[in-house]
Amino acid sequence: MSERDQIKSIVIVGGGSAGWMAAAHLNQGLGEFGCKITLIESTDIGSVGVGEATTPELVQLAGRLDISSDDFMRRCQATYKLAIRFVNWVEGDDEFWHPFGPVGGYLDGWDLFHFWHRAVVAGKCDSSYASHSVHQQLCAYGKGPREAEGETHIIKKGSHAYHLDSTAFAAMLKGISLGKGVVHYFDEVSNVVLTEDGAIASVQTKSGRELTADLFLDCTGFRATLIEKAMGDGWTDWSDLLLCNRALVASIPQDDGIRPYTTSTALSAGWIWEIPLSHRLSTGYVYSDKFADEDQATKEFVQFAEAKGVDKVRPRSIPFRVGRRENFWYKNCVAIGLSSGFIEPLESTGLALVARGVEAIMHFLPDCRLNPLFIDQYNQHMASLYEEIRDFIVLHYLLNRRTGSEFWKASREIDVPETLVKSLELYDETGLLNEFKKQIFGEPSYYCICSGASRFPKNTLPMANYAKLEKILDVISQIRAQNDQFVSAMPKHSDLIAQIHQTGRKIL
Ligand SMILES: Cc1cc2nc3c(=O)[nH]c(=O)nc-3n(C[C@H](O)[C@H](O)[C@H](O)COP(=O)(O)OP(=O)(O)OC[C@H]3O[C@@H](n4cnc5c(N)ncnc54)[C@H](O)[C@@H]3O)c2cc1C
Repeated sequence: MSERDQIKSIVIVGGGSAGWMAAAHLNQGLGEFGCKITLIESTDIGSVGVGEATTPELVQLAGRLDISSDDFMRRCQATYKLAIRFVNWVEGDDEFWHPFGPVGGYLDGWDLFHFWHRAVVAGKCDSSYASHSVHQQLCAYGKGPREAEGETHIIKKGSHAYHLDSTAFAAMLKGISLGKGVVHYFDEVSNVVLTEDGAIASVQTKSGRELTADLFLDCTGFRATLIEKAMGDGWTDWSDLLLCNRALVASIPQDDGIRPYTTSTALSAGWIWEIPLSHRLSTGYVYSDKFADEDQATKEFVQFAEAKGVDKVRPRSIPFRVGRRENFWYKNCVAIGLSSGFIEPLESTGLALVARGVEAIMHFLPDCRLNPLFIDQYNQHMASLYEEIRDFIVLHYLLNRRTGSEFWKASREIDVPETLVKSLELYDETGLLNEFKKQIFGEPSYYCICSGASRFPKNTLPMANYAKLEKILDVISQIRAQNDQFVSAMPKHSDLIAQIHQTGRKIL
């Protein structure tokens, strides 16, 4: 490729989290080679304004933007997220955990799960698999993953995530991007001019601008103004697999301390999230309007808030569609963020998919001739990420045994995707997870969800049967002792958060 053919200009339409994550990251990677990044955002069309629980992808992103993690946390009103606690998901009176990071680690290359399972089957262990995770133990005791000064293995490995204020997050990325030369217009794209072969020739705006570029990014959210409305790219609908299609969202005051985990509590037609930020508690009821109309859902949401001592909650309603683009990258346009697809936020994968999408643009970036082989690779990669997440989320619903709710019954009676059927068959028979793709969530995540819902393999793994049971029990008690020691040395998460945010105020 000659320098002449390099992509020299990228226009991003949309200034939500996706637009600004793309701008900051692409400018960091391509800006020094003379690639001009321009972002247009409308002042009249709002951004979705949610997306506050994250995955470890965000920690990596913050690292690449040369911001210290404390600075990042102060600017985004962030707290640590070490796990998700699922309440009432299985039978209606239960809880299980999905922590980040390894659960007790690996023995001779095998996940602790197999040895733990053998001990359970032998009647020698009655603690849950997830309880062997140091992250889960920190959560159970309301502890942070580090002291105010100093690092721990959790921080060094980045096996944690953040809860963050989505508006502050986008504003921080905007500040970084503008400081490093990204061109920004408050304006609205009112027309997309196409070439004869259907690529974008230019975008025209309400105030009379006309912008051309080598590559366009559609970050216009659910509207998908460029890739769908103008270019006609298709949408693969998954509403028959994941039934929720609306959310009621509101912020309420913090309750009993700032928890280092997200809580997801099952309600009659969906589930409600609690995301503790440093200054407020973000909540949202994700539900299916086929099983509860807006009045019923609002009533349930208000009751939930009242039980927490909060009255006069007026939630905002957000409709959404679940599925993915047929082509994430189509001709000279790439969809990033909600324009590219959406899977309900149960495992907080929206921003992770934005981060992965932007990384993949850099990885597969062609020259101006836009060789379709690069574009195909990008599309296959993103499709496999979306499908992996879809199956992982469907798995949560599929394993429920709740009675007395049509929504939960319908959620386990869906036509399960073939990929998930095969993965579960292998797991049920052997305990192995080879059929699951595991690009976003590692093996321990799948074991936490399955064992959390008491779905165990029929047999213990033959390799685990070679180990002496006493040795297995010894290893398990060592893991517990190490975890206890680590947890007792850590500060309360709410104290740690107060210190991080306090320090920031002093510096400023
Ligand atoms: C209910 C719900 C809960 C969620 N929870 C989480 C979560 O906990 N964790 C997580 O990671 N993700 C979550 N997500 C996903 C997350 O919110 C999004 O992935 C993320 O915010 C990116 O959104 P976006 O930037 O693509 O779209 P938006 O935020 O909608 O931004 C769209 C932007 O495009 C601009 N725009 C639109 N049309 C035009 C035009 N014609 N010209 C110029 N500008 C235009 C708008 O002004 C706006 O700036 C959630 C999503 C929903 C719906």
